[in-house]
Amino acid sequence: MDDPCLHNLNLIHHRINIACAATGRNPNTIRLLMATKTVPAERIKIALQAGEFLIGENKVQELKEKFNELKDTPHESHFIGHLQSNKIKDLLKCSVSCIQSIDRFEIAEKLHARLTFEKKEMNVLIQVNSSDEESKFGVSPENAVALIKKVASLSTLHIKGLMTIGLFSAEENKVRPCFRKMKNLQQHIIKHKINGVEMDVLSMGMSHDLEIAIEEGATLIRIGTAIFGERIYPDSYYWKE
Ligand SMILES: *Cc1c(COP(=O)(O)O)cnc(C)c1O
Repeated sequence: MDDPCLHNLNLIHHRINIACAATGRNPNTIRLLMATKTVPAERIKIALQAGEFLIGENKVQELKEKFNELKDTPHESHFIGHLQSNKIKDLLKCSVSCIQSIDRFEIAEKLHARLTFEKKEMNVLIQVNSSDEESKFGVSPENAVALIKKVASLSTLHIKGLMTIGLFSAEENKVRPCFRKMKNLQQHIIKHKINGVEMDVLSMGMSHDLEIAIEEGATLIRIGTAIFGERIYPDSYYWKE
């Protein structure tokens, strides 16, 4: 039997198209990242061979394990999890093209030091805590500009935009303001014209809220459950220290 992810991917593209049509956006302006935590490499391969290209992992260990198995299947990979400084070296061995989760200067500095040593550079997004929940990582919207100015001074890091995990709520009127806050923050940062900072990427929207995120301006959505099914680990395993 075909892996259900194939059918699910069709559904996701359908949802993207409908959300875009509703807001007059071109679906080609939305990138789909498959959030692949807990998903075995064989299943990721199936989705990649069906025409997907971008994947994201949360844990360096897990990324490393799958990296070898996926290296002959064309794809691009981003790191979307909480980054710890003792994992930077390993992370840089896994050919990620972007780290979406820079949320404090200390980790940016350590990443910069290692990249300098390896004569490499890295695209990054600044992770913002848009829902004001203690349990979420990310710089507060109030402190985002200051952090971005500092990170922009590190020559190996190229800021491309913002990432957020929205509020988990079935109530749309609570979720939407988080995403709107991100769009406003993006515009605010653009006005600051910080040297070397690009703000084209707005990474927001997951399985349950991708439509709202697209309506509010997401350019990259990160989808796990709605493609691969429910995970056995609770998200807290990935989102807290
Ligand atoms: C797991 C994860 C996602 C995808 O979440 P789903 O609800 O399964 O679609 C997106 N972003 C991050 C950072 C994640 O850890």
